[in-house]
Amino acid sequence: MTAIQTLRITSEPFGTMPDGTEVLLFSLANDRGMEVKVINYGGIITAIKVPDRNGDIADVVLGHDSLDGYLNHSRYFGALIGRHANRIARGKFLLNGVAYSLPINSGPNHLHGGSQGFDKVIWTPNKTDNGLELHYRSRDGEEGYPGNLDAIVTYGLADENELRIEYRATTDRDTIVNLTNHSYFNLAGGGTILDHEVQINADAFTPIDETLIPTGEIKCVQKTPMDFTSATSIGARINEDDEQLRNAGGYDHNFVLRQENSAFTSAAKVYEPKSGRVMEILSTEPGLQFYSGNFLNGSIIGKAGRAYVKHSGCCLETQHFPDSPNHPNFPSTVLKPGEEYQHTTLFRFSAE
Ligand code: BGC
Repeated sequence: MTAIQTLRITSEPFGTMPDGTEVLLFSLANDRGMEVKVINYGGIITAIKVPDRNGDIADVVLGHDSLDGYLNHSRYFGALIGRHANRIARGKFLLNGVAYSLPINSGPNHLHGGSQGFDKVIWTPNKTDNGLELHYRSRDGEEGYPGNLDAIVTYGLADENELRIEYRATTDRDTIVNLTNHSYFNLAGGGTILDHEVQINADAFTPIDETLIPTGEIKCVQKTPMDFTSATSIGARINEDDEQLRNAGGYDHNFVLRQENSAFTSAAKVYEPKSGRVMEILSTEPGLQFYSGNFLNGSIIGKAGRAYVKHSGCCLETQHFPDSPNHPNFPSTVLKPGEEYQHTTLFRFSAE
C-alpha cells in the first residue's frame, strides 16, 4: 500500500452552474511537489502539476481556466466518463432479451454515456483520509440505461507522486457499466505529443470500422503501427498509409492489455524526452483506449490562452472494450444487483 501521509486537500469556489449550483475546486497536494486539481462538475481533473528532471513543475493535462470553458468548449477534458465509456454501435444493445436505445451523439453511435453523461453532472464531494470521494446517483432510465446506479470515484495522491483513481458502482437492476477518466496528457506541458514515447503492454488490439466501432476481431499488433510493445514515439508511424490509422485519423484504438498475475496490470509507460517526465499507468482493467487527440483542431482555447491543435494531448483511458455489450467475445460490462463494479487505475509520475 502506498503512503498518503502528507496528502493535503483544500477547496475553493470554481464557478456557478446555469441553475445556480456552486461548483468547487479541490486541490490535492503532497510534499513531493505534486498537485492534482479536481472539480465536482464532471469529476474533472483540471490540473496535474509534476516536476521534470530538473525539478521544474508543469501542468501536464489539457483543460480550461474557468467553468464556462468546461461547460461550453470541452472535449471531455479530464472528465469522468460513464455509464459506458466509448462507443455503443447505433446506441443499441440487448440485455436479458430486452432491447435498449441510447442517445446518438457521435456520428451514428452513442459515445461516453450520451449527451448528459457522467462528465456533465454534479458529483457530491466528500474529503476522506484516502482522498477526495465523489458520489453520483444515476437514475433508472437516465440516458436510456436501466437501473439506479450509485457510482463512487475516489481521487487519491500518494507520496510517491502517484495519482490513484478508484471507481466503485452498484445497481438495483441489471445494467451495463464502464467507467474511466478522460484526461488529455501532454508531459511537456505544451506543444504536441508526437515526440512522446509510448510503451503499451498489449500484444493485441480491437480493430475498428470507419465509424470507430470495433469489428469484433482481436488482432495481433505485430507488424502494424499499433505495435507499442517497445517504446515508440507517437509520431513515428501516425501518418502511415494504414486502414486503421485512416479510420481514426490517428490512434483511437482499444489495446488488449496483457493479463499479469497480480491485481494490477502495468498498462503503459509514457516518456517525454525534453523534460524527462515519465508517466506509468497500472490498472485492474482489461483494456486501454489510446487516443492521440485527433479531433482537436485549434478551435478550443484552453488554459493560459493556448489553442489546442491536433495532437496537443493524448488520452490513455483504462476501461473495458468499446461496444462491449454487442460483442460476446469481449469481457462483459454487465453489472447485477448485489455485485460491486470495481476499477482502480494508478498514474505514477517520475522523471528520468
Ligand atoms: C474516443 C474518441 C473521442 C474522444 C472524445 C475518446 O475516448 O476514443 O474517439 O473522439 O474520446 O474526446
